[in-house]
Amino acid sequence: MPYNELRKDYLLNRWVVIATERGRRPTDFAKNRNTQATTTTCPLCPGNEHMTPPALLVYLPEAEGIRKDKDQGELRHKNWLIRVIPNLYPAFSPPKDPADQEQIMKTPNFGYAIGHHEVLVESPNHNDHPAEAKPTQLVHLVNAYKDRLNEIAAKPYVKYVQIFRNNGLEAGASLSHAHSQLIATPFVPRIIAEEQEASKNNWNQHEKCIFCDLIQKEKTGPRFIADNEYFIVFAPYASVHPLEFWIIPKRHAANFLDLTQTETESFAKTLKASMKALKDLVNDPPYNYGIHLAIDKNAEDYYHWHVEVYPQLAIWAGFEKSTGMYINTVTPENAASEMRKTISL
Ligand SMILES: [Zn+2]
Ligand SMILES: [Zn+2]
Ligand SMILES: [Zn+2]
Repeated sequence: MPYNELRKDYLLNRWVVIATERGRRPTDFAKNRNTQATTTTCPLCPGNEHMTPPALLVYLPEAEGIRKDKDQGELRHKNWLIRVIPNLYPAFSPPKDPADQEQIMKTPNFGYAIGHHEVLVESPNHNDHPAEAKPTQLVHLVNAYKDRLNEIAAKPYVKYVQIFRNNGLEAGASLSHAHSQLIATPFVPRIIAEEQEASKNNWNQHEKCIFCDLIQKEKTGPRFIADNEYFIVFAPYASVHPLEFWIIPKRHAANFLDLTQTETESFAKTLKASMKALKDLVNDPPYNYGIHLAIDKNAEDYYHWHVEVYPQLAIWAGFEKSTGMYINTVTPENAASEMRKTISL
C-alpha cells in the first residue's frame, strides 16, 4: 500500500493515522521495565488500614460467603477481601451542603467539582493485578464495581460514573498495590457523551444498537482476538493506542448492574485472560482501562457497555496534543493477530 491509512472511530469524530508503511510489530514494544520502587510502606496493604480514611465498603469472608460492611470512626476492619476507600486527594467531592447539589454549574463555564472519587483495593495481596489474580478474586472485584456503581449512580447530582484502572507508574498509578478507581461526575464527560449521542443517532436511523452490530462484524474479521459465550475481545478498527483492545458483553445492556452470576464469572475470566495475554506479549506494559457505560434509563436501548484497554506503549507528542488526531504505528490487525497467539480464554 502506497500510503498510511486514515481511519475514523466507529462512533467518535476522531481520526487516527495507522502507520502501515513503517508499521512496528507488537513485540517490538516488549522491553525490560523498571519495577516500581516499593521501599515505602504500602497504605493499601493489610495491617495498614489506619493509614487510610474509613472504608466505605469491605468484603469480609464468612462461612456462608461474603459479608459486606464498612468502617466506622476509628474502627478498621481486618481480614478483608475487597476494600473501598475515599480517595485521600479527591478530584470530585460529595456535596457538603444539600444546597450545593441543587445547582452545580453556577455559570455556563464555572461550577463545583461535586461527585465522588474512590479507590477500590482489589485484593489483600499487593501484586494481585487482573493478569495474575485468581478469577474468584476478580469476581469480588466486579461485584464491588457493581455495588459502588449501584449506590453512586442513584444520587441525583451524579450523571456519570467512570470506573478505571491505572497500571504502572508511567500510566499514572502512584501506588503499586492492585487497585481501581471510580470517579462520579455531575455531567457526562465528552468522550462518553459523544459515544452516547452517536449510538442514539444510529438507533434512531436503524433501530439497532451499533455495538451489537460491531460484535457481529468483528467476530469474523481480522481484528478478532477471542470470545466465549458471554464476551468478545477485539482490537478496534481505529485504535489510537498500539495494542488497544475492547471487551464487549454479547448480551445488550447499557451497564453491568444486572450481570448474572454466570456472566460475572465470565467477565472476570475474560478480563484476566486478556490482561494476561497483553502482559505476556509485551512484558507487563503500563496501561489504563476504563469502563464505558450509561446510567441514564433513556440510553438502555441504544447504548452498550464495554471496557476499553489502552496499553501505554507510545508517547503522545506535539501532533497528537495539538490536533486531537493520533498516529498509531501498530495496525489493529497485527495487534489482534499477536494477541490471538498469547490469549487462552
Ligand atoms: Zn500493598
Ligand atoms: Zn447492543
Ligand atoms: Zn467506548
